[in-house]
Amino acid sequence: MADPHVNEIAEINIETIACPLCAGEKYSPWAAENGFCAVTCSDCGLIYVNPRPSLATIDRAVRAGAHREETLQLNVVSRRVSAKVEQYRKVVAEMFRDVVEKGEPISWLDVGAGFGEVVEAVAKVVPAGSRVEGLEPMKPKVAQAKARGVAVREGYLSDINDKYGVVSVINVFSHVPDFKQFLQEIKGVLTPNGEVLLETGNAGDIGNRNYFPGPLTLPDHLVFAGERHIRRFLEQAGFELVQIKRIRIDGLVYSIKNLVKRLLGQPVAVSLPYTSPSRTVLFRARSVS
Ligand SMILES: [Zn+2]
Repeated sequence: MADPHVNEIAEINIETIACPLCAGEKYSPWAAENGFCAVTCSDCGLIYVNPRPSLATIDRAVRAGAHREETLQLNVVSRRVSAKVEQYRKVVAEMFRDVVEKGEPISWLDVGAGFGEVVEAVAKVVPAGSRVEGLEPMKPKVAQAKARGVAVREGYLSDINDKYGVVSVINVFSHVPDFKQFLQEIKGVLTPNGEVLLETGNAGDIGNRNYFPGPLTLPDHLVFAGERHIRRFLEQAGFELVQIKRIRIDGLVYSIKNLVKRLLGQPVAVSLPYTSPSRTVLFRARSVS
């Protein structure tokens, strides 16, 4: 007979959900990791963790920077990566060339700013007099950004009263339990015709889990999209795509790293350079409704 105490704990911390994009309830398994399962929606193909930790559990983990379920100790704070500043300076300079050339000051909010690398990068590119700020729920990251003098504040979109011309969400998508609601919150802080810059991987397009470069980091990552899914999320929320940029990740260094990971027993595919279907994809989109 089942122990009722164990069931009680499971009911509090874990919940079964419908597809966060199409609300479909049919799915098939895609991958398992850390005691969680990522499934593929039978209707739209979105990949999402199901069952997943309850929203209260997710929120607690995000604020603290760690998952503390009974079966899992997963630290997700990581560290500042200074190379990101130059990487995103180039990306923003290219994708927002029109804004840069116009020369008029803008306001930019980076949501999920982490240690503030993207805030630093954007500040180097945008016209003089622009306001560039970051928003981050994870306390240890905010503390480190502030210590370096980078304008990152602790909190969520619902805490913001100002309006911004651009909101960036770089590698945030997979962490957000309800991205439809999240996009509405973004619209709430955008000026009319304001824009989003969204970056995520294309795991929802690659088919086999083994093409994913490295651990899936379940359940810190809750959702994996392909290009078609992000386009649909944006369209549904009243955004019009301005530009899409795909970045290959499978150079020689990537292939060697994956070979090493494979030898260490991690479930990644060993691919020749320039053969992996995995991409980093950036979407620039404008609010039109
Ligand atoms: Zn679906």
